[in-house]
Amino acid sequence: MTGRNGYQKAREHLRRDFAYRCAYCMIHEHAAGGAESFWIDHFKPRSKGGRVNDYANLYWAYMLCNHIKSNNWPTRSERRRGQRFADPCQEQDYGVHFVEDEEGKLVPQTPCGEYHVRMLRLNRTLLVARRRERNAFVARRSEAIALVERLERQAATLSGDEAAIYREVIAHVQREIESLEAELKITIPFIPLQSDCLRDWVSKER
Ligand SMILES: [Zn+2]
Repeated sequence: MTGRNGYQKAREHLRRDFAYRCAYCMIHEHAAGGAESFWIDHFKPRSKGGRVNDYANLYWAYMLCNHIKSNNWPTRSERRRGQRFADPCQEQDYGVHFVEDEEGKLVPQTPCGEYHVRMLRLNRTLLVARRRERNAFVARRSEAIALVERLERQAATLSGDEAAIYREVIAHVQREIESLEAELKITIPFIPLQSDCLRDWVSKER
């Protein structure tokens, strides 16, 4: 990539490498108006000496995050205090520099996390609402799974028409579970409430 706008050629590679999500707020393209609502962000801004066409300096970002981040970069004295953007490609930001509370808000754990969340306004209304919505999907999915288990136990004791009705209800709830799982694939992923439960969360996901 060369030239003033050479980095635009990296667009499709970035989309794939960032799993179609914003590098900062993790919102999925499907939940934020599609790829046209996303721009290529220079992690270190061009005006602050960031390389224009260096793939490692290019991040896939929701346009609002890109706009909010703008040319902001910590000053020398801020950096001395540890205040800087967390680099999602170089380090674990979610779960280390900040965690998520039960209300869907990000709570900084380090000076870096404080700077990052504040400068990117990661507790803006839309994002908090999306995280709470995801929590509601997770709760509904667990309830639906428990309901299917209960219905299956009861269905096993029945026969004929009664059993058929149970099977229909079970199939209906299972379709509900599938649609919740489809929603969960494009919600903002869960971020541990406490940094020390990160390991548990990751191992559970595998
Ligand atoms: Zn974002």
